Amino acid sequence: MPKIATMERCYILFGSNMGDRERLFADACLLINNRCGRVMEVSTAYESEPWGFVADEWFLNRVIAVDTELDPEDLMQKLLEIEAELGRVRHPEQEGYASRPIDLDILYFGNHVIQTESLTVPHPRLHLRRFALVPLCELIPNFVHPVLNKTQRELLQDCPDTSEVKERFI
Ligand code: ADP
Ligand code: MG
Repeated sequence: MPKIATMERCYILFGSNMGDRERLFADACLLINNRCGRVMEVSTAYESEPWGFVADEWFLNRVIAVDTELDPEDLMQKLLEIEAELGRVRHPEQEGYASRPIDLDILYFGNHVIQTESLTVPHPRLHLRRFALVPLCELIPNFVHPVLNKTQRELLQDCPDTSEVKERFI
């Protein structure tokens, strides 16, 4: 039986603290729009303090809403390919967090709860990170987290993270 295409709205977090961060974001958006699904909304740009490690450069973070017909696993695979094409080199031997030109995380995939070896959705740390919650609050303040049963606004209010996230005015 042919697969009936179903469209899901997903939210992807872009992060970069190396290189031409705005350019990387623009390139990532184009590639996502070509290969993953239509980019429907883009949050404001935020500058955020490096989280969990020390680095000179702050991160540029943005959340984008994408309508996709891909399966979550295929979407993740395509995002990892885009990261690689745009210059991210992973160092598996390196522990913890590190500076990176591009990080693409799936925060939400519709209301789906996914737990496989390579993918956890909703993203398991999004509720602990102001740099994810602040842009989510801009786009979908009343969307309810399908596991924690709280809106983005409630998650931000309850978030223990105190690191700085500033709106970037160009
Ligand atoms: P982080 O984003 O936490 O800094 P990485 O970008 O290095 O870490 O991601 C490590 C792995 O996490 C990826 O190879 C990916 O397969 C896996 N992963 C699991 N769930 C997700 C998700 N929701 N979004 C992005 N990556 C995920
Ligand atoms: Mg990632």
